[in-house]
Amino acid sequence: MNILVTNDDGIHSPGITVLAEELRQLGEVTIVAPDRERSAVGHALTLHHPLRAERIAASIFAVDGTPTDCVNLGIHSLLPSRPDIVVSGINRGANLGDDVTYSGTVAAALEATLMGIPAFAISLATNHEAANYASAAFFAVKLASKIIVEGLPDDTFLNVNVPDLPMESLRSPLFTTQGKRRYDGVIVHNVDPRGRKYYWIGSVDMDFYDLEGSDYAAVSRGHISVTPLHLDLTNYNALHRLMSWDMS
Ligand code: MN
Repeated sequence: MNILVTNDDGIHSPGITVLAEELRQLGEVTIVAPDRERSAVGHALTLHHPLRAERIAASIFAVDGTPTDCVNLGIHSLLPSRPDIVVSGINRGANLGDDVTYSGTVAAALEATLMGIPAFAISLATNHEAANYASAAFFAVKLASKIIVEGLPDDTFLNVNVPDLPMESLRSPLFTTQGKRRYDGVIVHNVDPRGRKYYWIGSVDMDFYDLEGSDYAAVSRGHISVTPLHLDLTNYNALHRLMSWDMS
């Protein structure tokens, strides 16, 4: 089995190393990842300058681009054959609810799905260096094995979030829905040393609505969360309603 591993925290992040090591139980692992942290770049694709892929060790490539660039280069150029699965992570920090739309980790799995390759993104709900990446890596192997046997529904990939707990403290995996973030107080503003005002977007606090069955509800109670995502963003309920509008 051929496995492509990528992330958005960069090739030197602890999560990707642990993930790749564990996945080697299942087959040939090639890492193609950004040469530096590219978190929150979403599904960005580099079109206006050339990309370089530096082979830093056997089957490990650092690319001066985005996670989406890495998946493209991996599938179409760097891997000896088409991967059977693409795994993105282990991200440092959760990717819950609306955050999936900003996440480079999630976008990499989305890109693989566009290329017709089964994929999942996996994130650890942590802000600490000494986090339980091993717990998430263990689950990644289990999930990858299952996906290889069962396959995934068309146009679907999985967004996995793992609580930052030792393996024995993790509760059973739950299949969940994409939750919803609360957007209160996300911008910090202050004055810089030169007296100019600055703004800083984002806070490390996980501030989500505690919706039943959601990714956040699962992770906040110590469960591993597995959310099936798909590429079709059409809101079919809204479509039916809009069709009744007289636009002539
Ligand atoms: Mn990241």
